[in-house]
Amino acid sequence: MQSSMFNLRVTLDERGEIFLMNTLTDAQLVVSSDVAALLDRSSDAMVGNDEDELEALALLHENGFLVESRDADRRALDQYLSEVKSDATELNVTILTTLQCNFACDYCFQGDHADYNQRADRMSLETASRVGDWIERELDRVRPEKLVLTFFGGEPLLNLPVMYAIAERLWKATRERGVAHYVNIITNGLLLTPDVVDRMSPLGLNGVKITLDGDRNTHDRMRPLRGGQGTFDRIIDNIRKVAGRCRIAVGGNFDESSVDSFPALLDFLHEQDFADKLSKVFFKPIVRTEPVSAKGIIPLTPIAAKDSFNGTCMTSVGSGAGRACDSCNVLDDKLSMVREHTKRLGFPTHDGVHNGPCHVHKQHAHTIGPDGSLYACPGFTGQLALSTGHIDDRKDSWRETALERFNRLHPWKECGDCAFIPVCAGGCVAASYSQLGDMNLPTCHKPSFESALVSLAHEIARNEATPQVA
Ligand code: SF4
Ligand code: SF4
Repeated sequence: MQSSMFNLRVTLDERGEIFLMNTLTDAQLVVSSDVAALLDRSSDAMVGNDEDELEALALLHENGFLVESRDADRRALDQYLSEVKSDATELNVTILTTLQCNFACDYCFQGDHADYNQRADRMSLETASRVGDWIERELDRVRPEKLVLTFFGGEPLLNLPVMYAIAERLWKATRERGVAHYVNIITNGLLLTPDVVDRMSPLGLNGVKITLDGDRNTHDRMRPLRGGQGTFDRIIDNIRKVAGRCRIAVGGNFDESSVDSFPALLDFLHEQDFADKLSKVFFKPIVRTEPVSAKGIIPLTPIAAKDSFNGTCMTSVGSGAGRACDSCNVLDDKLSMVREHTKRLGFPTHDGVHNGPCHVHKQHAHTIGPDGSLYACPGFTGQLALSTGHIDDRKDSWRETALERFNRLHPWKECGDCAFIPVCAGGCVAASYSQLGDMNLPTCHKPSFESALVSLAHEIARNEATPQVA
């Protein structure tokens, strides 16, 4: 027996105890330092001579902290990733109803082009109907327990008829098939009204994610209208009007010029009458497109070149359907600071450890562009050459080649014995592709995982929600 390569530990100074986590089994234990020492000695033939030790060893084995060999760990990892890939319990579809947007965000491709909306793709009702056909075929082929639809863009609320048509069609389709149905909307919040929420609620609306990029001044600088006017007050007003009617998550992006305004944003949100209605609050480092921007922006790790997104809203790409690139090397400390402040105010938030594997690694997660092209994840939309199929089921050899490439992804194979592989799988593949030119090279944000682990350990120890092993 030996210690698993997926074991992580954090010393809980205040208690003289150790938090143990195994990322493959997701087991989490708070143990005495004696038990942690026993784990370290587990390959020693003399270990386990008394009853207490044998009991502790059995518990560690049962929870995956002790394994037969490193080969056993590797086999279990392969099996786990293959199960993630083929998991048919959920069919997950992100639909880009339009690439048009009413904002001119500082960090977004669209913000650079005044005429962008005139040529940006927009899904027609006819294509929406074919999207419905394709998803119904997938429901019958995959037979999932649930369908999760996410409407995204551009700004999805600029194409309400298509969103309503698809949501209505699939609500009916899932009722007929006895499949659970969840609908999410990722929006800039400007056009979010009680009418939109009331129309979508009976169609399975699960939640709306709205982006705020700092306190009022900062947000208005980062996310103005195309005419330059601020948007913060109107978004807050809209959140207030719909709060309580559906789950509202607030997300946002920060860079070094804006991050220090996030505590003020969090304090502001905490004071609002809708604060207790926010289902999640989570902020992440901004996705930049050049290593060093002409705008004097710090060299954040880019997740994609501008062209590669070609109109897909940068708000959620990179965190998107998955959450693996919710972090960035340069801003790890700042991410920690924002996360801790969010927790201190009592907002529900991501723990920053359970991040992946993201949708790009899942066979039954798809993104559909406005023209009906299929993609492995939102990070590749707009790159037609990397489309993995089409809702018409047309057979284009280049799409089949792209699908094959995504099916064979393995960036984690370059990650050695990293204990975070089961929750990271090598980082954001869209970032690997754009930054490194190779989808199978990892983009590593290990410091962010490490700081999130420390935070998670202390939170769990505080709540004493985990089993205690003496
Ligand atoms: S590869 Fe990157 S952009 Fe695509 S789902 Fe994963 S984390 Fe998101
Ligand atoms: S990318 Fe980094 S953190 Fe992720 S699995 Fe690889 S080495 Fe670990």
